[in-house]
Amino acid sequence: MRYPEKLLKLVRALAGLPGVGPKSAQKLGLFLVQNPDAAGDLLSGLEGAGSLHPCKLCGNLAEAELCPICADSERDHGLICVVETINDLMAIERSGEYEGLYHVLNGALNPLEGIGPEQLNLEKLFERLKDVREVILATGMTVEGEATASYLAERLSGSGTPSTRLAYGLPVGGSLEYADEVTLARALENRRGYQ
Ligand code: ZN
Repeated sequence: MRYPEKLLKLVRALAGLPGVGPKSAQKLGLFLVQNPDAAGDLLSGLEGAGSLHPCKLCGNLAEAELCPICADSERDHGLICVVETINDLMAIERSGEYEGLYHVLNGALNPLEGIGPEQLNLEKLFERLKDVREVILATGMTVEGEATASYLAERLSGSGTPSTRLAYGLPVGGSLEYADEVTLARALENRRGYQ
């Protein structure tokens, strides 16, 4: 059976999204074609999301210059939690345990793939350390995450800012975003000084 070219184009675009296989893409495409209201909501959501940009301070998504977390004076501005991705930031926010600010690196050190300190949102962290009493290294429990934490801890100790690492309980080799809220909350609570 030959599909209309416009439907094929839509299905191809949907199949390019993370976590959407060819079958789901086809199902979603047909659904959107047959439900103009849902398609309209999706379109306006996409248009709105297009104006989001990285927060000037932490790298989270922002509508204004600062993201809602950095702009919140109720949060603890003396505490910075360093994460690899915005997904990880959202996972920690879901735990409801954390009151400080974040810093999003946009990845982790990975020399084999050519990702060094220059490829990450890293230097901005060192510009933020004034009045910061602790940096929590919440990079993943992967080889790259550990290497990144170790690199940061060394540089932070050189600048006189104490750093801590998330505690036990998080799956080794795992990314933060897949950890459940309770495990994340406990790992944050029991964070330890970086050796
Ligand atoms: Zn921010």
